[in-house]
Amino acid sequence: MQINELNAAYQSLGIDPKVLDYCVDIEKGLIERFYTIDKIAEFNQLKVLKAMQDNRLSDVHFAATTGYGYNDIGRDTLEKVYADVFHAEDALVRPQLISGTHALTVALSGNLRPGDEILSPVGKPYDTLEGVIGITETKGSLAEFGITYSQVDLLSEGGFDWEGIKAAVKKNTKLATIQRSKGYASRPTLSVEKIGELIRFLKELKPDIICMVDNCYGEFVETLEPTQVGADLCVGSLIKNPGGGLAPIGGYIVGKKEYVENAAYRLTAPGLGKEVGATLGLNASLFQGLFLAPQVVSGALKGAIYAANIYEKLGYLVLPNGSEDRFDIIQAVTLNSAEAVIAFCKGIQAAAPVDSYVTPEPWAMPGYQCDVIMAAGSFVQGSSIELSADAPIKPPYTVFFQGGLTWYHAKFGILMSLQKLYEKGLLKI
Ligand SMILES: *Cc1c(COP(=O)(O)O)cnc(C)c1O
Repeated sequence: MQINELNAAYQSLGIDPKVLDYCVDIEKGLIERFYTIDKIAEFNQLKVLKAMQDNRLSDVHFAATTGYGYNDIGRDTLEKVYADVFHAEDALVRPQLISGTHALTVALSGNLRPGDEILSPVGKPYDTLEGVIGITETKGSLAEFGITYSQVDLLSEGGFDWEGIKAAVKKNTKLATIQRSKGYASRPTLSVEKIGELIRFLKELKPDIICMVDNCYGEFVETLEPTQVGADLCVGSLIKNPGGGLAPIGGYIVGKKEYVENAAYRLTAPGLGKEVGATLGLNASLFQGLFLAPQVVSGALKGAIYAANIYEKLGYLVLPNGSEDRFDIIQAVTLNSAEAVIAFCKGIQAAAPVDSYVTPEPWAMPGYQCDVIMAAGSFVQGSSIELSADAPIKPPYTVFFQGGLTWYHAKFGILMSLQKLYEKGLLKI
């Protein structure tokens, strides 16, 4: 294929040659980094493959169960495969865990009892957990069941506040919740190595403290997972990284057998636990999605790095920056105006395989103080391993974006975001 054939294909989808030109050298400059990402994906691919082979995965495991779901050998095998991939004792991987927030809720409420305290040594947790824990008063929160919460913020340069953490660990501190990804905050994302340091410190202070990691957006970005550096529980969503884009629903909880069982008793019923829960024919997608996940995550990661380098070169503030190491797939770009944020999101939407013809507009989303714009044209509703972007319409006008089922699609989405800014006269290239 001639390179001008490829350029013509981009032009036929609405990308101006000037926009394309601007990005050519940036992509060339990333070859070495992309090679490193490919090697991580290769390693993780082998890890997933080995877990499937070791557990003798077979087509009988793809059969559907209904009703109570007793003897669902597909489900049980999926959980063994997850446990092996994460080097954990046990796993709960279920379509009945309807989101990441739900999986975290089940892990917390299954393992905490009245009088216990939760400690977050990494600052405020993800927005949706505020209601779960009861940081903001919410019906049914853990606070209503007599579970208290304390928090130690990261230091201004992103490090752990060791003294503060030491002072915060008390007799009734039962569980530490450690969020790996920055989510939509402006703190750095934690590497697995850093999480390991924190866990070692916590266990020295209190050997029986349960260390739970919110692993959302972090799976397969590195070769290690938090369960390999001492995490007792690791929790995430299947419509993010580990579902590989194919899981239509679900969440996972992996870790120590006792803690996973406690979570299972909460998800289903005390005494029933993991023995029930029909999978209704979803097992094949959950297995196949996990099989593809290392590759899918590598594409999303390349997209995030590509975008960081393009927007950094254009003079915008990007977090993480173009050259730093990555520990999750989220990219923030501060565009300094509402007009630019809206144009960016319109580009992401216009690049989607689904609903490319709709125009996203800012709206007053419940629970937000300002208008929010969201761009997503995904096969699975709300899936953020698929290319998606959102931004609150307020200064400093930062857009957060993530995902891309393939590197090529992530690249195209970023080019289209640039195209929309260009058409609005907001770029000088
Ligand atoms: C997405 C996310 C969650 C919540 O997951 P949902 O599936 O959206 O409920 C929790 N924590 C972090 C860090 C996340 O990125």
